[in-house]
This record gives sequence, structure tokens and C-alpha cells, in this order.
Amino acid sequence: MEKKRLYLSSPTMHGKEQEFVKEAFDTNWVAPLGPNVNNFEKELAEYVGSPHAAALSSGTAAIHLALRLLGVQSGDIVFAPTLTFSASCNPIVYENATPVFIDSETETWNMSPEALRRAYEKYPAPKAVIVVHLYGTPAKLDEIMAICKEHGTPVIEDAAESLSSTYKGRHTGTIGQFGIYSFNGNKIITTSGGGMLVSEDASLIEKARFLSTQARDAARHYQHSQIGFNYRMSNVIAGIGRGQLLALEEHKALKKEIYQTYKDAFADIPEITMNPLNVDGDANCWLSCMTIAESSTVTPNQVMDALEAENIECRPIWKPMHLQPVFHECDFMTDKGSGEFSSVSEDIFNRGLCLPSDIKNTQEDMDRIIRIVRNQILGADV
Ligand SMILES: *Cc1c(COP(=O)(O)O)cnc(C)c1O
Repeated sequence: MEKKRLYLSSPTMHGKEQEFVKEAFDTNWVAPLGPNVNNFEKELAEYVGSPHAAALSSGTAAIHLALRLLGVQSGDIVFAPTLTFSASCNPIVYENATPVFIDSETETWNMSPEALRRAYEKYPAPKAVIVVHLYGTPAKLDEIMAICKEHGTPVIEDAAESLSSTYKGRHTGTIGQFGIYSFNGNKIITTSGGGMLVSEDASLIEKARFLSTQARDAARHYQHSQIGFNYRMSNVIAGIGRGQLLALEEHKALKKEIYQTYKDAFADIPEITMNPLNVDGDANCWLSCMTIAESSTVTPNQVMDALEAENIECRPIWKPMHLQPVFHECDFMTDKGSGEFSSVSEDIFNRGLCLPSDIKNTQEDMDRIIRIVRNQILGADV
């Protein structure tokens, strides 16, 4: 008999979602506007402590609109971390601008302030900097914000993976000029697909709503003075979001528990290190990840093969953008990496993997995963 399938991070619904969706149907607000959209914006903004939010069709759309609102265009440079999901960087190319990729540091796996400084020496006037809080761990925001401020560059926080994580008491996504969140299927809360753009600037968020609904001028006839997008969130799925938001703190607590369970279970194995959590923050632990020491003969692929053979979903670390065929012409600023690999991000990619972090996994499920990983690393028979 096939073993029970265990997931990396699958949607967890609670019932409240369907009530808000039913309300949308009952009132016939089945459209990319309506009370659920307005309320989801208000409730999320309140939760993260940002005054203004625009609900959009995806996190990618939110990044794209942030770049558009900052005036990024052809010929501009935008700094972005190399260790991230491609969606962080693709919108730079949508605007015909050029990404310059920045290496990670070892303490949070996020953008290295050292490498960022070096990037400014070569490219003194980037139009924007995108910072990512990978796997839910806040980046070194104080250092990064200070460097960007020194150069007058606006910062977009890609908090797609870090909704509910805080840095020095403030929510990730609310510290840069713009913050973006994603509600894709495997994020900490989901609407099946969706995103949010937040900012302290009311006029910029109003402009984002305008651009996301085809940029229609305030005229009775259909008049357009700018190119718009169809990026608004539907009122049906905003209902899912409102329900999910009520469970966000519970999801975070469970994700943190999963991380701690792995950490404790591998504490006696020096070859295993869990992904870092920023000491200046409270990470949501969206995905629990581990790296295997260089001294070990076991590779992440072997561990992933062993998990997959037991019907357990896992995933490599994001492949750095500077190693992607599609970005092969882009420049990359390295941190002073150590070890046999040429950069910190590449080293994490080569030695790391993402462990199943689904909040519906039981203690028994966790024991099953942990036993397989331990046996792989310690070389025992499964
Ligand atoms: C998921 C994700 C995105 C994109 O969000 P979508 O809603 O899927 O468009 C952007 N950046 C990072 C780091 C992500 O993990």
C-alpha cells in the first residue's frame, strides 16, 4: 500500500473562508471589486500595521506595480537578491530594466549588506532595490535600509514568504517604501492565488488600484492616458483571504513548532544545520530548511530521493538567479564566501534542502520524516 503523502506546504482551510465566499455569491459581488476586496485590504493593512493596501491578482503583479510606480524603465538598474524565487526578479525584466544580483550573507541567507555596498561602487544609481525575506526569515533590514537611504534608493520588500514575520517589532513588508505579500497555494495563508501591495503613501496605493484596473481615466467614456493592467483581486477569492487572515497567527505558531521539532530532532547531528532565523526578528518559519556540512559525503539529492521514495514532498533551495540560463548575462556581486563554492548563495544551494513544513502533518508524520533524514545522514539502514 502506498504510504500517506506528506506535503511541503499545502493549503489549510478552516471554514470561515467559505462563509465570506458565500457572502460574495449571495450578494452577487462576483467581480474584481466588492466588499470582500475592500475589507481584505483593510484587515491585512491593520494586521501588518501599514496604513494602505491594494489587493491584487498575485505577488508578482504587486512587485510589477511597485516597480512601475517607482518609475523603473528601460535602461535602469535594479538590485535584487540572487537567492530567491524567480518571481522576485521577473518584473524587473517586464519593465525592460536590468537586474544586478546580490549575494546572500550566512546569518539570514538574505541580501548581504557587504555585497550590496560593493554593488553601489560599480552601479552608483540603481532605480530600486528589492529585498526578499527568504523562507520567512527577515533580512538584515537596518543595514540594508541605511545603505539604500544613503544613496536615496527606494526599497521594495518582497515579503511573499514572510507574512507575519517581524523585524525589531515591525512586520516585514512595512519597512521599505513598498511591501508585497503573496497568497499563492503554498504560502502561509492562501487565496489559491493573489497578492497585496502595501505602502505608507496613500496616493501610490490609489495609483496601484488605478493601474491594476486598466488605468481608466475619470471620464464617462472609456478614456485611457496610460497603459494599464488587469491585476485586481477578485471579490470571491478576497473572501478566502479574509477567512485565512483570521488563522494566520495560528499558522505561524504551528510553522514555528515544526521548525523547533526538526531543530531538536537533529541537534545531536553536527552535519545538519537548520536555516537561520534572524536574531533581531520573529520569523514565521514558512519553510523549514537544512544544510548538510561540507564534511558529509551525503548530498541533498540523496536525502530528497529518500524522502520522495517514501511519498514525502520536499524541495531544493531556490537556484540562485545568477546561475539561471535566462539571467546569464546579468551581473552578480558576491559576498566574501568561504569554502569550495564561489559564493554564499551557491554554497547554500549546493548543500541545502527544504523539509516538509505542512501544518497538517502530525507528530507521527514528523517522526517519519525525521527518521528518514537521520538515517540518510547517519548512514543507517532505513
Ligand atoms: C511566491 C513568491 C512570489 C510570487 O508570488 P505570486 O503570488 O506567486 O505571484 C514572489 N517572491 C517570492 C520570494 C515568492 O516566494
